[in-house]
Amino acid sequence: MHLPLSTVSSTSPNDYVAEHVRAIPRSGIRDFFEIVQTMKNVISLGIGEPDFVTPWHIREAAIYALERGKTGYTSNLGSMNLREAISDYVATNYALRYDPATEILVSVGVSEALDLALRAVLNPGDEVLYHEPCYVSYSPSIALAHGHAVAIGTKEEDEFKLRPEALRAAITPKSKVLLMNFPTNPTGAVMTAAELEEIAVICREHNLLVITDEIYSELSYADAHTSIASLPGMRERTIFLHGFSKAFAMTGFRVGYACAPAPLIDAMMRIHQYGILCAPIVSQEAALEALRHGHDDMIEMREQYRLRRNFLVHAFREMGLHCFEPRGAFYLFPSIKSTGMTSHDFAFGLLKQEQVAVVPGTAFGPSGEGCVRCSYATGMEQLQIAAERIARFIQK
Ligand code: PLP
Repeated sequence: MHLPLSTVSSTSPNDYVAEHVRAIPRSGIRDFFEIVQTMKNVISLGIGEPDFVTPWHIREAAIYALERGKTGYTSNLGSMNLREAISDYVATNYALRYDPATEILVSVGVSEALDLALRAVLNPGDEVLYHEPCYVSYSPSIALAHGHAVAIGTKEEDEFKLRPEALRAAITPKSKVLLMNFPTNPTGAVMTAAELEEIAVICREHNLLVITDEIYSELSYADAHTSIASLPGMRERTIFLHGFSKAFAMTGFRVGYACAPAPLIDAMMRIHQYGILCAPIVSQEAALEALRHGHDDMIEMREQYRLRRNFLVHAFREMGLHCFEPRGAFYLFPSIKSTGMTSHDFAFGLLKQEQVAVVPGTAFGPSGEGCVRCSYATGMEQLQIAAERIARFIQK
């Protein structure tokens, strides 16, 4: 027997949504780019992905995989060939050795690997410390894993590095994880081995687990990149995350990986095997090709980014804007304080008046106020036009 509709209590679909999901704010970047998409003649410096198409031989490897009938699942951890190649790549480039059988998991991008790492280690209420401004997904990912996100503001005068004293001041008895990302999205900050060692000392002292997102590590323009995982006593307390999206221009392939001691990879695998099963086999084949033969393409793209960075830093300084020279990734984070505008007003004004899209610094956390993020993963011609338009906007 059905109850008459009038006796059924009225529940809005929103009431079914879990509280911790309801509490997650909409992405500031998404709202902004919904407006951008409705406009014509916009030059976007807002995109966080390479403007290069994936190198041809990597695409060809994906096509060839399909031709050979590679259409099934792989091992939950990823194909052994790829895990072996990752193990060699990480050993050569980061001075870290991981066992491909038990210490490497191939994921659907760094995004999935980060989610797995957080879900695998956090008990409700555990604190995750991270430096800010930072990648937009960090705070929501921590909240979705029932952790408590604790932002540590970084400053332009410190070149947006994580200062040891700021880390120490943020630690409480509930602190469990330090999440790091150098080179940093959105600032392009990097940390030297000596600076990382100062952070490592604190992590060892307070028994913190480090999750290090190394997605931009190949795109370092000054000194050789060092991973905190390679410092003494750190490998056993670090989850090293990396992927193919940025260095090999493979965002759409959705493939990344995590390297960590076996018990941590095993914990992450237990979540991954039920939620995802495995990363797509075609993407894994393409990733294998990138590691085996993609080095020169990566160097070429990095050189292009470096030239564009030099151009844009110079252009902003000529306009009278204070611009910290980023040493990695493909973002500039100039200060717009001298214009007297907030980052929100600057970004919206520039879009409206000159059709150039940059991202308000506050999209990356409150400490991004006073700055805007400009991606130089955009062709040089576009950058030149954008620079002219920005200069005109500031003069007005
Ligand atoms: N981590 C950082 C710092 C990023 O900037 C991004 C993408 O912009 C990601 C992770 C996501 O990477 P993936 O495409 O591998 O999921």
